[in-house]
Amino acid sequence: MALILDKIPDSTLPVSGSALRFPVNNIFCVGRNYADHAVEMGGDPDREPPFFFIKPPFAILADDAPMTYPKFTSDLHHEVELVVAMGDDGIFGYAVGVDMTRRDLQGEAKDKSRPWEAGKSFVHAAPCGAIQPNASVLNEAPIELSINGEVRQSGNVNQMIWKIPEIIDRLSELFALGPGDLIYTGTPAGVGPVEVGDKVDASVAGLPSLSFKVHS
Ligand code: MN
Repeated sequence: MALILDKIPDSTLPVSGSALRFPVNNIFCVGRNYADHAVEMGGDPDREPPFFFIKPPFAILADDAPMTYPKFTSDLHHEVELVVAMGDDGIFGYAVGVDMTRRDLQGEAKDKSRPWEAGKSFVHAAPCGAIQPNASVLNEAPIELSINGEVRQSGNVNQMIWKIPEIIDRLSELFALGPGDLIYTGTPAGVGPVEVGDKVDASVAGLPSLSFKVHS
């Protein structure tokens, strides 16, 4: 097929133990999937149907790559999340990711009942570690985020309100979930600001870790 423009390079992520890379298609994110985070954001932790937003593939930032502090914000927040990577036949594997958020722009969008894109979808908004192949459902694993060596978020993926199979079912019905898609499954409590010069370390036990430094 001839294209009027050169094809734009795809976003890919390394796969642990493999020379092959994972091609990133859609990036789905679950909102308020841990009760303690729902409370800290002023929400009701009762089990409401999960809600979703989408980040573009250009938001991906691989492990150990420099993060550029985005424009139009003075309140960039971290949200450490377990990431599910979808393959041809369901779950391909898992990674640790950070749902970076321009909290001031997200708050403005909420106040004005506008879409969340400016708060959630920007270059380097989706740092993600290498993908660990594992087709089974991951029910239990400590999840943590540190800034400059100080722990800011600490939880366990067993605290998720909506579990992985339920999220996959709902995404499959609402959208067209398919191979190459990533799902950021929500964050535990402790979200907060990231500043220029900070080093961020994110982990989910059993998965390759994720680190990045923030530059101006
Ligand atoms: Mn999030």
